[in-house]
Amino acid sequence: MISVREALAFILNHIKAGPETVVPTAEALGLVLAEDVRAPNDIPSFTNSAMDGYAVRSSDTRNASRRRPLTLKLLETVPAGRVPKKRICAGWATKIMTGAPLPRGADAVLIAEDSGEKNGSILCFADLRRGENVRRAGEDVTRGERVLPKGTLIRPQEMGMLGALGRARVRVIRRPRVAILATGSELVEADRTPGPGQIRNCNNLSLIGLVRKYGAEPVNLGLVRDDARLLRARIIAAASCDLVVTSGGVSVGEHDLVKTVLARLGTAVKFWQVRVKPGKPLAFGLVRGTPVFGLPGNPVSVIVSFEQFVRPALLRMRGLTKLTKPVIMARCERRIEKPADRVHLIRARVRRRRGKYYAAPAGLQGSAILTSMVMADGLIIVPARKTVVRAGEMVHVMMLDWSEEQKQ
Ligand code: AMP
Ligand code: MG
Repeated sequence: MISVREALAFILNHIKAGPETVVPTAEALGLVLAEDVRAPNDIPSFTNSAMDGYAVRSSDTRNASRRRPLTLKLLETVPAGRVPKKRICAGWATKIMTGAPLPRGADAVLIAEDSGEKNGSILCFADLRRGENVRRAGEDVTRGERVLPKGTLIRPQEMGMLGALGRARVRVIRRPRVAILATGSELVEADRTPGPGQIRNCNNLSLIGLVRKYGAEPVNLGLVRDDARLLRARIIAAASCDLVVTSGGVSVGEHDLVKTVLARLGTAVKFWQVRVKPGKPLAFGLVRGTPVFGLPGNPVSVIVSFEQFVRPALLRMRGLTKLTKPVIMARCERRIEKPADRVHLIRARVRRRRGKYYAAPAGLQGSAILTSMVMADGLIIVPARKTVVRAGEMVHVMMLDWSEEQKQ
């Protein structure tokens, strides 16, 4: 048997970042930049008002307060998108909207809330510092600066920044295309009624979800019977994608043909018994240079194995460098017993109460029990040699879902 760490290290040695392409920035969410993005101009490109109010000379507002307002005369009005015409001299103010260029002579903006009007004059209720409520040209970004380095993950805020830099298109690492193929003569597609001895193919749908969840593009190749010739042809066709994931056919049964076919077809082929439950059997190899993962067939094993082995590979292909999943410390709410054989990953519900995490094992833990996977938002990691986790003991939990909207 091999450890998860060793198997993953071997796999990652055969995985590199994918090819580059140019995409519209609007489609770039979740992709990784393949170029350094520099600023063609300052941002803001001109000094402007941060608030609605009056552009003034701060020296004209000394000691002004609500009790002792000062008065100023109105020079002109500048909405955003217009340019002020007049220079401000002592005792004058220009009515200005957020984002409008600051008039020459002004060095501060009196906000509307601190102003009043009386007999056509402006009342100033505040003593302003120089630069108050003013957005200085270049205060955010300076021209020529490398704003977003190569390797940056594009989130919504990076998309906005690219827009501000005038980049409607960017060079990125292409989203990997992942072929998904279920193997097993007992399988029918989810829209069919299974006949005697048949079951529905659920793995492809789990895998489509996982592939999308980790930022790649699924290519559903459906299912294939346990027939070596058919399987061989399907795996060769699948290898035109960037990565292939099959399920089933990698354990020790007579009809576990993925191993046989992969062994004949591939290079760097490995069949592992990984020291982990669920997800012990795992096949890996390269077919025509494309990484192929032979995941186990059981509906829970396929998901857990994907999380452990395919997910880091996909992230690396996307150009990301942080490949580990978040692991937290939580108090285990129930006793867990297991043999001292392999690492067990126990499906658990994770909850936060008063700043502390609690993990409750979620029902039956068999490799085919999907309900506990449906309930789980984390996997309690019980080390190989450990046989008992007492109720109340602290445990490591690998989080499956880590977004706030899911943790209500
Ligand atoms: P195998 O490793 O091929 O023997 O598969 C292990 C178990 O998982 C068997 O009970 C299979 O019927 C089941 N299984 C395999 N593939 C799928 C699938 N795509 N959807 C649901 N169950 C599957
Ligand atoms: Mg099978």
